[in-house]
Amino acid sequence: MTNPAEILGLPKPAWAADEVGMLYDMAHRFMSEEIAPRYDEFEKNEMVDRECWLKAGAAGLLCASMPEEYGGSGGTFAHESAIIEAIGHVGVDGFGIGLHNSIVAPYILHYGSEEQKKKWLPKLATGELIGAIAMTEPGAGSDLQGVKTRAEKDGNQYKVNGSKTFITNGQLANFIIIVTKTDPEKGAKGTSLIVVETDEVEGFERGRNLDKIGLKANDTSELFFNDMRVPTSNLLGHEEGQGFVQLMQQLPQERLQIGTGAIAMIERALALTIDYVKERKAFGKAIIDFQNTQFKLAELKTEATIGRVFYNDCVARHINGGLDPVTASMAKYWLSDLQGKVVDECLQLHGGYGYMNEYPIARMFRDARVQRIYGGTNEIMKLLIGRSL
Ligand SMILES: Cc1cc2nc3c(=O)[nH]c(=O)nc-3n(C[C@H](O)[C@H](O)[C@H](O)COP(=O)(O)OP(=O)(O)OC[C@H]3O[C@@H](n4cnc5c(N)ncnc54)[C@H](O)[C@@H]3O)c2cc1C
Repeated sequence: MTNPAEILGLPKPAWAADEVGMLYDMAHRFMSEEIAPRYDEFEKNEMVDRECWLKAGAAGLLCASMPEEYGGSGGTFAHESAIIEAIGHVGVDGFGIGLHNSIVAPYILHYGSEEQKKKWLPKLATGELIGAIAMTEPGAGSDLQGVKTRAEKDGNQYKVNGSKTFITNGQLANFIIIVTKTDPEKGAKGTSLIVVETDEVEGFERGRNLDKIGLKANDTSELFFNDMRVPTSNLLGHEEGQGFVQLMQQLPQERLQIGTGAIAMIERALALTIDYVKERKAFGKAIIDFQNTQFKLAELKTEATIGRVFYNDCVARHINGGLDPVTASMAKYWLSDLQGKVVDECLQLHGGYGYMNEYPIARMFRDARVQRIYGGTNEIMKLLIGRSL
């Protein structure tokens, strides 16, 4: 089955029709032909080859939602959703282009000057620049106001000192948006976003490629800044101190795209498991013939359907500019929780084979776990939802 979403039997939402549907098919083909055959090698190397990024760029899979005048394809979040869904449906979840496309590039589009957009977006669209966003520090994760990385103005440069950890694409990225304090006394209002082109700066160092339990094909890294010199023209926004507001404005899309990965993996897990239980036999009959199997899968299919309908509605609202931060937090928390549950139950229905790495459900089990942690933990999502009560 090309599109595991079909297992739910739902009509396609309007936003997924026509060219978005074609982009999904193209992305699915690309992931199946270019990434999946080498995925074990990428997991072993703990990163995807740079060459794959360039190929993705050439295929039009980078910056699909950026305007054409800046090298993008002029699409919307629906296009980004199609690409992330294809990644999840093929099962190459560690290929970090979702973050590059729908988190990093939008910061440049929304807060970059005309000059910055012209300089950076076309290279992000080809894959010449690989993007990352560095918020988290060893002492500041959920509480981003506690960021200690400091950028001090010195002539036409910033002198940056500090460190970051858990940064997705952190080994490959040569274009990193860092969250810094330009005025520590002002707390959140003294926070700024500064772009670092790592090929061009002194004082930038990468730490370890961190050893994770899942998403092995994705590089996740520590970063160190020791008197790192960055031109003041790399500040995002027309003045210092805008960083926190910029982060808050962009977080709904970041959270929604975690939901995209979640619903795609849920659908793939269900499709694979339904195939498996039809084939596997015990006590003289197929596993699917046991009532427990049917009830479990009936429950999971029902919840997946609720999740997909909610997700589709969130995307429709987001494209029209109407997805509020509280609903985006609900999507992130609920869909990633459901992903964990579905993948766990589907693994159980595989018996011992589900615990073997050669079965895709085993990798999905490892990869799913982090979805409840990054992008703001699910506890933080509930905190935000709670504030709306
Ligand atoms: C694989 C991976 C990739 C990542 N990629 C990136 C990236 O690209 N860029 C980036 O900047 N960061 C990234 N992160 C970091 C991620 O966003 C943080 O790990 C996350 O925000 C949690 O921060 P923390 O790890 O410091 O946990 P802590 O903040 O120390 O939280 C520990 C526990 O306490 C809970 N907790 C904290 N505060 C509260 C509260 N007020 N109420 C109730 N419970 C609370 C949390 O929910 C959690 O369960 C990544 C992390 C991982 C694991």
